[in-house]
Amino acid sequence: MSARVGLIHRFLDRLPFEADDPIVTLQEGSTPLVHAAWISERVGAEVFLKIEGANPTGSFKDRGMCCAVTQAVKEGSEAVICASTGNTAASAAAYAARAGLRGAVIVPDGKIATGKLAQALMHGARVIALRGNFDQALELVRELTDKHPIALVNSVNPYRIAGQKTAAFEIVEELGGIDALCIPVGNAGNITAYWAGFVEAGNAPRLFGFQAAGAAPLVSGVRVEKPETVASAIRIGNPARWEEAMTAMTQSSGRIAAVTDEEILDAYRLLAAREGVFCEPASAASVAGLLKFGAQGAERIACVLTGHGHKDPQTALEQSGSVLPCEPTIGAVEEAVLG
Ligand SMILES: *Cc1c(COP(=O)(O)O)cnc(C)c1O
Repeated sequence: MSARVGLIHRFLDRLPFEADDPIVTLQEGSTPLVHAAWISERVGAEVFLKIEGANPTGSFKDRGMCCAVTQAVKEGSEAVICASTGNTAASAAAYAARAGLRGAVIVPDGKIATGKLAQALMHGARVIALRGNFDQALELVRELTDKHPIALVNSVNPYRIAGQKTAAFEIVEELGGIDALCIPVGNAGNITAYWAGFVEAGNAPRLFGFQAAGAAPLVSGVRVEKPETVASAIRIGNPARWEEAMTAMTQSSGRIAAVTDEEILDAYRLLAAREGVFCEPASAASVAGLLKFGAQGAERIACVLTGHGHKDPQTALEQSGSVLPCEPTIGAVEEAVLG
């Protein structure tokens, strides 16, 4: 069996690094691509789930972060910062800790999932709860990094995109190409990265991007001042990679569409109950969109499940059945188990 390597080593020939660079890795990437029998049957196509929650901190952000933090170390930065709906914060904090850099993360006050907050704090980042939303946080960190020598590791950083395009390489390597990709869209860095990756790998699937109905600026064409959705990771009203995302959609003959919170939560529960895959709510937007709009002629489809279900235990508990209390007698246990 070959040893597991991080994605910079795996794709060194296609990334802007050299083997003797100070590579910061947690062995991210090489995530499972799982066939989804139940969903395939429902939509009449072969559907695969790209389980990005299997990355070291539980989301695809690690692909971009290993590259962004490696570059920060290379440039001699002593600190990294990001605005985040949660997963970027968790990932930046982990990679900063590993690299021995200081990390600061700015998150919307009260709007980030518990697991992500716990991660950022445990990794020793300075966590700043902004009395505002993600879009305001991003504006402020951009201003801050213009004034101070701190590396900005949001997906406006090109090294984030470079790292994240490797997910497309993996899909093409494993399946030899797909007809369509379904992906949740927030700040639109990931869809931009996938398109770059597919083009580079010589595959051109249609990109179906899905936003939450309460935070769907790319669908309406106007920024959303007060984005709202249960899918906190994509609660973004003014995507930084707006233009690039629309270009990817046009060039791939894809489309961007909205799914409601109810549709997202239906897909979220269904993935867990029927496919055995626990992702976070934002991730389920990809499958919600596929179930809502159908395969649209595609025969082989990959849905990106961007983050792990453990990230947001609160929403999971709200969406699932309750536990059964039981007295410690065989009769009571029989009743509870078999009744
Ligand atoms: C960051 C994130 C997204 C959105 O990705 P963008 O690059 O901002 O479009 C979707 N799902 C999860 C779980 C995320 O953490």
